[in-house]
Amino acid sequence: MRLLVVGGGGREHALCWALRRENPDADLYCAPGNPGTADLATNLPIAADDLDRLADAADMHGIDLTVVGPEVPLARGLADRLRAEGRAVFGPSAAAAQLEASKAFSKDVMAAAGIPTAASRTFQQLQPALEYIDRHAEPLVVKASGLAAGKGAVVCRTRAEAAAAARAMLGERAFGDAGSTVVVEAFLEGEEISVLAVTDGHAVEILPVSQDHKRLLEGDAGPNTGGMGAYSPVAVATPAVLERARREVLCPALEEMRRRGTPYSGVLYAGLMVDRAGTPWVVEFNCRLGDPETQVVLPLVAGGLTESLWKVAHGEGVAPIARREGEASVTTVLASRGYPDAPEKGAAIAIPSALPAGVTVFHAGTVRGADGVLRVNGGRVLNVTAVAPTFAEAQRLSRETAESIEFEGKIFRRDIGWREAARRPARAVS
Ligand code: AMP
Repeated sequence: MRLLVVGGGGREHALCWALRRENPDADLYCAPGNPGTADLATNLPIAADDLDRLADAADMHGIDLTVVGPEVPLARGLADRLRAEGRAVFGPSAAAAQLEASKAFSKDVMAAAGIPTAASRTFQQLQPALEYIDRHAEPLVVKASGLAAGKGAVVCRTRAEAAAAARAMLGERAFGDAGSTVVVEAFLEGEEISVLAVTDGHAVEILPVSQDHKRLLEGDAGPNTGGMGAYSPVAVATPAVLERARREVLCPALEEMRRRGTPYSGVLYAGLMVDRAGTPWVVEFNCRLGDPETQVVLPLVAGGLTESLWKVAHGEGVAPIARREGEASVTTVLASRGYPDAPEKGAAIAIPSALPAGVTVFHAGTVRGADGVLRVNGGRVLNVTAVAPTFAEAQRLSRETAESIEFEGKIFRRDIGWREAARRPARAVS
């Protein structure tokens, strides 16, 4: 089997790791990959959004299955392109990827399908947006509709903040074209979980549920980032909540996409705010695996991942994905000083040669120079994932290993999973 993973971050390293674990003999390629994927796969020096060269590479290497990591190539039609050339690909079409690439579209699908989500309106003109904000209760959330690398949502405590955010997006084009359409929505109370479902457009196979930490600083303070850590499983994601997520969110969204003639296949990622009554309110849909959620979710998969991706890509349904029972997983992101705005680059990285049992270090923003030295090459540098029989042990292993890795300017949060730690002290994971 010849497999190609598209992307070059921590998510793609975790994907390569999981695929390699299930397929020790496969020919595995990663484009562009990173120094971590280089140990598991053949890296191809092709950008994840270079559709022409990716299609050529799939041809040249006779790829049987392409798995697309990031949203940008999906939104640009990589899956359509490869399928048109007769290749199996795991990931939605450009039309289906609009569920993430356009929040306005996504809210429209949710409204049509009766999916629980915050009340909202979509605007292209500033004045009506300001009038709407003026008439609605605080807090409010103002979102750039287009792809903004996870930074397009501004949670506003006051109407004045919301008006300023709308002005920045619609007036000053702070997010460029991504903010030329804006969604203004009500603030949802509750606890947020990431539900990642593998789907062929009909059936859904829900992966272990995770929670990420988007804020830069401990205690969930500071600016939003791409994610500073994650953990799985999450106690609030009870079987009853997941059943509601399946019945009230995932299945209706898939049905609505089929009805519109743009069936959805791949990973449907629902960011859900679970309230006290256990209602799963949709905060956002994404059209791919989450980063850093993937780095805690895939290590908890016991088997069936490749078969499931294969079946979905070939239109043959979804295979069951087994999970490792009785284990928890925590990942800590090591970032570089200045992240998220202006991360420093270039520092040499020292990773201990022997890592504790259950710990895997996934590479995100690293590069290996001509001198063979591993260096910082991005805001999020490494993800330290620990799997252990208790949540507390996974948390401790991840944190201690994060401490033991060295580079100048290293920053990380020592409190990943603090909510879970408070409700699940040293208890075993069920
Ligand atoms: P998004 O880009 O839509 O994922 O939003 C980024 C983050 O902003 C989410 O992960 C939430 O933490 C927060 N957020 C977005 N929309 C809402 C909302 N309606 N209510 C509360 N928090 C929200």
